[in-house]
Amino acid sequence: MTNYIEVAGLLSQLNASFRGVREPVDQVPYRELIAKRDYEGVLGKIADQLCIPSALQIGYVNSGGPEEASCWVYMPTVMPQFGSSTLRKSKFTVYVRKRFLAVAPPDTVVAAFAHEMSHIVLGVISHPLRHNEKAVDLTAMVLGYRHFFASSHSVSGYLSRDEYQYVLGLMSMK
Ligand SMILES: [Zn+2]
Repeated sequence: MTNYIEVAGLLSQLNASFRGVREPVDQVPYRELIAKRDYEGVLGKIADQLCIPSALQIGYVNSGGPEEASCWVYMPTVMPQFGSSTLRKSKFTVYVRKRFLAVAPPDTVVAAFAHEMSHIVLGVISHPLRHNEKAVDLTAMVLGYRHFFASSHSVSGYLSRDEYQYVLGLMSMK
């Protein structure tokens, strides 16, 4: 349900953590990688943008995982911390349903991967909002991926269409 006060509160916490909203990334290279079905390339590019130095792989699945999710990532109980050598030596697997890749618009796939990588970003800084799905979407938006969520809200996003528009408005006012 649409809750502007909740969303504004989450956004201001994330803005404080990340010291403001980043310029949006150029969408073209991401769309080119998706067109080539280079999903590992997309994930690597997002990891670079978000300063996650770990090895990444994609698990393509037909079934399993959380019922409602198109994509998910399992985090270790003790999360390696940002800037640590443990994080550099870590490996994360982002799982994605093959049928999601078959039907989702390219921008929605990028948004979903940016969401999963944002779980990692919030995890490695032990952020109090790391388990809040709306905050995870907002983190991806704060860190440069806001325009990819335009076509995502009905497919995989956690923000309603109105909340998404509201957040874009707040971000453009900064
Ligand atoms: Zn999530």
